[in-house]
Amino acid sequence: MKKETILTTGGRDPDRFDGAVNVPVFHASTIAFASVAQMEARYLTRFDVPYYGRSGTPTTLALERAVAEAEGAQFGISASSGLAAICGTLLALLKPGDHLLMVDSVYHPARVFCDRVLTRFGVETTYYDPLVVDGLRALVRPGTRVVFCESPGSLTFEVQDIPAIAKVAHDAGALVVLDNTWASPLYFAPFQKGVDLSIQAATKYIGGHSDIMLGTITTNDRALYEGIKETLNLFGYATGSEEAMLALRGLRTLSVRLERHARNALEIARWLEMRPEVERVLYPALESDPGHLIWKRDFTGASGLMGVVLNPASAQQVARMVDGMRLFTLGFSWGGFESLILVTTGHIDRTARPWTSQGPTFRLHVGLENVTDLIDDLQSGFDRLGVP
Ligand SMILES: *Cc1c(COP(=O)(O)O)cnc(C)c1O
Repeated sequence: MKKETILTTGGRDPDRFDGAVNVPVFHASTIAFASVAQMEARYLTRFDVPYYGRSGTPTTLALERAVAEAEGAQFGISASSGLAAICGTLLALLKPGDHLLMVDSVYHPARVFCDRVLTRFGVETTYYDPLVVDGLRALVRPGTRVVFCESPGSLTFEVQDIPAIAKVAHDAGALVVLDNTWASPLYFAPFQKGVDLSIQAATKYIGGHSDIMLGTITTNDRALYEGIKETLNLFGYATGSEEAMLALRGLRTLSVRLERHARNALEIARWLEMRPEVERVLYPALESDPGHLIWKRDFTGASGLMGVVLNPASAQQVARMVDGMRLFTLGFSWGGFESLILVTTGHIDRTARPWTSQGPTFRLHVGLENVTDLIDDLQSGFDRLGVP
């Protein structure tokens, strides 16, 4: 079955729920057992069936199955946020003395986690240039256990050559973990490109309505699945059933939403490129983007998130532009139905590949509004910016 179909069928089981099309929201902490023997038998299958509310309810297990199917994996895990999925995965895979190769363009809180938490557990992190391939081999050490990727990267949108990176990682006996949030399960097939574990901040496009916090991890490796699920459970990173149901609901419409996000985003990216205020648009679906060829080779679509580098302007000019926006709301997160703007100047934290552009930077999430209205909003913003 094709992705769009899987998104509508995954995790559903009407026969189990008196014909109800959707999996009900199970509010459950206690799972009751019929006998001591059943309780013991259930323990052996605790990764896959409800055993205790913290480890999963029928609703969260349905979401895990659905996201796994959508990403082309056998096993899925959910966590209380995207960041919990990232940090829980790293804590499950790494031990003192291990070495982590972390992409320089990673989602910033994950970087802070490596620097402040993993260091305390004796795990050393080396940041690598997202665009490196051959150079990565030189950074690998005997203790390198994980190569973490995010493509395109947060804020700067470099597209990584995942198959080539996976080759280097696997030659060194390391695992490849990918933050696949930008592409969603729809536009990048991680397990066909050499990825071992794929992470989604389901808070973003899977939820799709800016109303939940949730993360997922998928894999085809049963041992990795059990190890990570157990670690998350031991940290108490439980997923709420209400959240899981909203994520399942989001999955059902992901393909139509993303189509519109992409269409609007490409039109806006092309419009921005022509503006005199704009130095560069960071969006791999643009032919002018340095990552365009790899994006075209490896992805089947683009989402609605992009970066914009302006020609030099003062902080006051930027504030005037942003403060007056009517449709592009100033805020974090993204992936919901609405358009967002974020000033990222000074927030691009890079050590392996320094960020050299001088002008102010933005991140735009292009929502489902009418694209002409969105362009009008940006046009007025540039009028307030008043440059050049
Ligand atoms: C938002 C985001 C996360 C974190 O997800 P939360 O659910 O907000 O914790 C991780 N990775 C990427 C790429 C993100 O954009």
